[in-house]
Amino acid sequence: MRYFVTGGAGFIGSHHVRGLLEGRWGSDVSRVTVLDAFTYAGNPDNLRSVIGDPRLDVVEGDIRDGDLAERILPGHDVVVHFAAESHVDRSIGAGSEFVSTNILGTQRMLESALVADVPVFIHVSTDEVYGSLDEGSWDENEPVSPNNPYAASKAGSDLLALAWHRIHGADVRVTRSSNNFGTHQHPEKLIPRFVTNLLEGLDVPVYGDGLHRRDWLHVDDHCRAIDLVTSGGRAGEVYNIGGGTELSNLEITRMILGFLGEDENRIRHVADRPGHDRRYSVDCSKISGELGYAPRETLADSLPSVVEWYRAHPDWWLPLKDARR
Ligand code: NAD
Repeated sequence: MRYFVTGGAGFIGSHHVRGLLEGRWGSDVSRVTVLDAFTYAGNPDNLRSVIGDPRLDVVEGDIRDGDLAERILPGHDVVVHFAAESHVDRSIGAGSEFVSTNILGTQRMLESALVADVPVFIHVSTDEVYGSLDEGSWDENEPVSPNNPYAASKAGSDLLALAWHRIHGADVRVTRSSNNFGTHQHPEKLIPRFVTNLLEGLDVPVYGDGLHRRDWLHVDDHCRAIDLVTSGGRAGEVYNIGGGTELSNLEITRMILGFLGEDENRIRHVADRPGHDRRYSVDCSKISGELGYAPRETLADSLPSVVEWYRAHPDWWLPLKDARR
């Protein structure tokens, strides 16, 4: 298989690319092309271990540049589309960049893949498009009802992707996953931010009462699920992907404090984020039943090794934090 991966220098995209080239997801891989604009979230270090692999090409460019995409897409079997603006907090102050990258960028990639005759398009999305629910879980028939500009822009891109299938008959498949955790995640996101704050001797800022609940998914499980959808998913279908561990922000904060030998005095409650969704929960029976997906990494088992990775790699995260101070 010849893969074209957008956003392949970001957190999840780079895990996917490394795993493809290391043969970890089970697919046969003859070529991987990464298209990434190297925004603040794209990091060449994330691909360092596979740079030099003759099957890998990294192209610096913008997904909104249709001419570029049409030049470099021909000859690939699948587009795996990760590139996006991905941080909810930023989307509240900088919504137009999110609309431009996530909606217009996805439309350009869909158009270019059609022109270049790439047979399969995997659109990587999020459970945040469903909104918030107090109990139960969403299945894929749930209408989108996003509550923040990030989620709204992802919902817009999902709808475009599905319309592409209906209008052009294109083989577009959409995945919607829960909150990912793992190594190489930008320290603006909750787990790496809290871990690195504690390693720096700083407090951890918890929004509001801290009772917002999320499902946590190890990034390796997410990538394996995406590869299952790539090899066996159906055109025009949405697949939820979850990790099976639901925790409140306060519970996950306490776990991190425990691993690092800190106590709750380090928690600083800060004003809640506007429109902060209370709870997300995805029903994953479709991908389990159709493609045999089940998460392998529980948060309780794998969080210690993730925390250890951040402890061992201040050279990776300190420059990213310093750039924001
Ligand atoms: P990330 O912010 O770490 O990486 C995004 C990547 O996209 C970066 O490498 C960045 O340089 C690149 N990029 C941004 N704008 C671009 C543009 N205009 N052209 C080309 N490249 C551009 O994000 P992530 O956490 O790895 O998320 C990847 C995808 O997965 C996103 O689509 C996100 O919505 C989705 N997702 C993320 C999570 C999560 O928990 N992180 C959960 C569900 C879904």
